[in-house]
Parts: sequence; C-alpha cells; structure tokens
Amino acid sequence: MLVVGLTGGIGTGKSTVSGLLSSRHHLSIVDADILARDAIAPGSAGFRKVVAHFGADRILNADGSLNRSALGDIIFRDPNERQYLNGIIHPAVRRMMFMAVLKAWLRGEWCIVLDVPLLIEANLWKWVGEVMVVFISEKLQLRRILDRPPLPGNAPLTESQAQDRMRAQMPVADKLVYATTVVDNSGSLSDLEAQVDRAVAKWRAQQGGSSGWWWKLCWLVPPVGIMAGWICLLRTYFRAKTVRKRTRGEVERRGVEMQDLKRA
Ligand code: ADP
Repeated sequence: MLVVGLTGGIGTGKSTVSGLLSSRHHLSIVDADILARDAIAPGSAGFRKVVAHFGADRILNADGSLNRSALGDIIFRDPNERQYLNGIIHPAVRRMMFMAVLKAWLRGEWCIVLDVPLLIEANLWKWVGEVMVVFISEKLQLRRILDRPPLPGNAPLTESQAQDRMRAQMPVADKLVYATTVVDNSGSLSDLEAQVDRAVAKWRAQQGGSSGWWWKLCWLVPPVGIMAGWICLLRTYFRAKTVRKRTRGEVERRGVEMQDLKRA
C-alpha cells in the first residue's frame, strides 16, 4: 500500500487537494487537523489537561466549548505554549494515524493519504512513500487565507492573525526540497484537478498500473510487502541525506520550535 503524505502551508490548498483525491479518486484521507481536534475534544483527557494549563477563563466559551480562535492566538504567539499543546496533541495524533493506516491496509486499499500540515517539521515525511507538497507564493497564500470563509462560530482572521499563523510554520518554499510530487496551486481549480489526476496516475503506475499487481502482491504475500517497505525506508534514508546536504542542516538549525516538534 502506498502511503502519501500531503502537506503545504496554511491556505495553500491542502484541503482542496485532499477533497479532490477523495472525490475524484476515492482515496482514503486521514486529516491530521481533525485528529488533532479529536485529541482535545470535550470529555477527553487532552481537553482536561489543556483547560487546566491555559485556564477556563481564557480558552472556553460561555457554553463550556473550546474557543479555538482564542487558543490559536495564544499558541501562535508563544512558542512555549505551542510546545506544551504539541506535547499533548502530537503523540495522540501519531497513534490515531498509525491505526488508520493499519485499518486501510487490512481493508486492502492500494493507497492512503495523510493530510498533515506539519509533515516536514515533525519529521513524519520519512515514514511515507510519497511526499506531496501543495505550493503557492506567500502573497497568494495570505490572500487565500483572508478570503477563506471562517469555520462556524469563529470570527474571520485579521491580516496580522493570518501572518502569525504563516510565521509559525516553515515557509512552504522550503518544503519543496522534500517533495516527490509538487502541486502548483497558483492557477485555477481545473488546473489543480489536472495536476492531481496526473499525480494519482503516477502513483497508480508505481503500484502496478490498472491491475495493481504490485500492491496486490505486497498485500497477499506479506514477506514481499515487508521487503518493499524496507526498500522504501532505505530509499527515504538516502533521500534524507541528500536533503540535509541541500539544505545545509537548515531544518536542524531552525530553532526551538523545530527541535520541540522533533522531541514531541
Ligand atoms: P489549506 O487546507 O492548505 O489551509 P484550503 O484548501 O482550505 O487550504 O484553501 C485555502 C482557500 O483557498 C480556500 O478558501 C479554498 O477554497 C481556496 N482555494 C484553493 N485552491 C484554489 C484555487 N486553485 N483557486 C482559487 N481558490 C482556491
């Protein structure tokens, strides 16, 4: 089974691409943002820890639900608070993601897509077979974030809130070096659809074309599947070395936030 890691920056079009992968190509999508929400959903252990740490008066609405916009403002401005929240959310998300991949493999699916905004920063890119990066310029990114309708119950983001959120992530241009598939989302939606179709055709060809003989062989004969998995990890190991050389250790030096994410 091919595991695709889908990433980009906030507002570059990851959700739009994952929507296309699901609706046009019927691929299973695991959305890390949804899992992250589940990790601190009301009633969960994560919720109790977060409320105890940040204070009910700062992050809860009058009806006791989480005020995500208030929590977002705190953590996007303060790296220590971000680190604390990541320490609760990341391990839970990794566990849920692993279970989702396992279930898809048991169902005999040929491909699963992990939609993970921090795929590169959290070093999860090393564990997927394909890294798909959705790219646009920072100027267009800001415009798309501001134009995006807010989630129900949330106020639209101001320009400075949008910039805080962009600054809290690695610039999307820096993620391109990790990509095995780049989607340039500067054009129209139909242009995006065509790029997504081409990417899926490439992945299908890698998995044995329309008959899918390769992934079926890996699935039906576990020793072959395990060997293919090892070869994939080995390939990633050598790719990581190349990436490190090309970025001259930039990611390793990128300061507190990246180190915190690696430890989480
Ligand atoms: P992300 O999931 O990466 O944060 P979204 O998929 O939500 O980004 O896209 C951000 C906004 O840009 C959304 O309002 C979406 O409808 C819009 N959008 C995405 N792709 C395009 C495109 N090719 N043309 C115009 N608007 C787009």
